[in-house]
Amino acid sequence: MKRKKHTVPEPPPGKEWVTPKRMPDTRVAVFVIPDGAPDDVREGIARQRIAAVDGACPCGGAVYVLDAEGFWCEHEDDCPGLDRNLLVAMREWRASGWAGR
Ligand SMILES: [Zn+2]
Repeated sequence: MKRKKHTVPEPPPGKEWVTPKRMPDTRVAVFVIPDGAPDDVREGIARQRIAAVDGACPCGGAVYVLDAEGFWCEHEDDCPGLDRNLLVAMREWRASGWAGR
């Protein structure tokens, strides 16, 4: 395969690419932290990004990189980076009118 020009596909909506440190030829899509997001949403997304890049979350959860569309991290139950917790935080943020809009 020729690699004359390195073209990177567009990431999924609301996401951007990061490269895991241990896998420099791989990229995974992570959420962009939205403007005006409350702390728990920011923290949750930030932890997912840290997990994707470093291979582990600050909560101690290990990461298994799957493919460009996503990755799996074994977050602790109370970690804001856990999808379930982040979803709750985002739902509460939306219920509050997305930062006062
Ligand atoms: Zn975690």
